[in-house]
Amino acid sequence: MRAPWRVAVVGGGIAGLAAAVRLRDRAPADTEITVYEQSGTLGGKLRTGELAGSAVEFGAESFLMRDPAGGESAAVALVRRLGLGERIVHPTVGQAALVVDGALRPIPGGTLVGVPGDLERVTTVARPTADADTDAGRPLLGADDDVSVGALVRARFGDEVVDRLVEPMLGGVYAGRADDLSLVTTMPALARAARVEHTLVGAVRAAQAAAPRSPGTPVFGTLAGGLSTLVRAAAAASGATIRRDAAVRELTPTGPGWRLTVGPTRDPELVDVDAVVLAVPARPAARLLGGPAPAAAERVGELDYASVALVTLALPEPELPELSGFLVPGTEGLLIKASTFFTTKWGHLRRADGLALVRASVGRYGEERQVQRTDEDLAATVHRELSAVLGAPLPAPVAGHVQRWGGSLPQYAPGHADRVAAARAVLRAHHPTLVLAGAGYDGVGIPVCVRSGETAAEEIITALGGSGT
Ligand SMILES: Cc1cc2nc3c(=O)[nH]c(=O)nc-3n(C[C@H](O)[C@H](O)[C@H](O)COP(=O)(O)OP(=O)(O)OC[C@H]3O[C@@H](n4cnc5c(N)ncnc54)[C@H](O)[C@@H]3O)c2cc1C
Repeated sequence: MRAPWRVAVVGGGIAGLAAAVRLRDRAPADTEITVYEQSGTLGGKLRTGELAGSAVEFGAESFLMRDPAGGESAAVALVRRLGLGERIVHPTVGQAALVVDGALRPIPGGTLVGVPGDLERVTTVARPTADADTDAGRPLLGADDDVSVGALVRARFGDEVVDRLVEPMLGGVYAGRADDLSLVTTMPALARAARVEHTLVGAVRAAQAAAPRSPGTPVFGTLAGGLSTLVRAAAAASGATIRRDAAVRELTPTGPGWRLTVGPTRDPELVDVDAVVLAVPARPAARLLGGPAPAAAERVGELDYASVALVTLALPEPELPELSGFLVPGTEGLLIKASTFFTTKWGHLRRADGLALVRASVGRYGEERQVQRTDEDLAATVHRELSAVLGAPLPAPVAGHVQRWGGSLPQYAPGHADRVAAARAVLRAHHPTLVLAGAGYDGVGIPVCVRSGETAAEEIITALGGSGT
């Protein structure tokens, strides 16, 4: 008789939990799944907290509704699988602004993460260089090449388009610099078009034309009650044994399977399993891979991370514009990188008492010291800068919260996708029962990480000998 499969999921973020749910759905019914999470809380970057009596996201806030290939995103599919579809809510106010020369201006539409397909439409915030986007008789990007977003857009549209538009929009997701971030990983649709088109305007338009249309589908959604609802539901549906405060410190191959060293150095627990989904960020992953797969560890370990702090203030009846929030280019010299007016953006968060919940994110790649300021300093600076940007002093906050996310946002340098592919090739060849999942490899964002976890689960099932369903 076949012994039940024992699968360890290392990392209790959304990628690990999505992997656990997929294993429960597709692996033989008697599969023993255990999720090891080093902290006391599941969810990783998904964390719903409480401020002034409201459920507030202290980490990720929302998910993309659509999949870039068409249809619903993997996040929406998971939400539905977990029976939470009726909790999905959408922003009631979608328009955001950019801070340009200290004042708010609407973010121009029709761009791909700030890269315009029609230069005329962005002149309210940035002047594109004239006549630089010429056809040199070959595609912008070679078949196997990668380049930084900044390098490509600067050469074609000039510095202002990068500094005032592309970088703040990319920075809203990565807290990074356009000049450091890989086009292939952060803007895959534009990279694909750039391998064919001879001008950047042509590539943006081609990428936009290739994007599946879903008229009427909102771009973003979140869950009433908070994203931790998704975390709890995934953990429950997976039927996995959940081990909190259980850091995995070592992975040792045992023939086709693995021995995990779990817990404190002085009192380690050794656990034997048949397969491992490694759903932790690249740095801890590189440490764990160092013993069994140094060639994979080296590639995975090249990924650097930015740190951010999220400062949320509860403000009694402030005068806020009808905007979802604003983005701040680094050239403006402010600490705030982006701000979200939670109670304007999300109808379900509006309050009868008029209290507004406003969040600001602080910290750009390379400016880790800013994130290490005291809570009081961060809150006071954010309050002062918000007042300046909005053009009037805001009321004093009645409550506030500072959440630091140290080393949390991957800075995918050009060549990242190739390095990950090489690391995975090493694992497939030598250790097919060890599979990587999560933002360290496949890109940031809840849908990407859900898909990444699910794909890892499928690979494990294949490696262990096929499906039980
Ligand atoms: C501030 C912030 C805001 C964001 N906002 C959004 C948003 O609005 N929408 C969106 O789609 N995406 C957003 N993202 C990105 C998104 O949240 C992440 O890409 C995604 O949640 C990453 O999931 P993950 O499972 O790969 O990793 P993580 O969430 O990092 O989970 C990994 C887990 O592994 C655990 N771990 C690490 N080492 C070990 C070990 N040795 N043993 C056991 N456990 C270990 C960690 O404690 C952690 O819980 C945001 C990210 C940040 C930082």
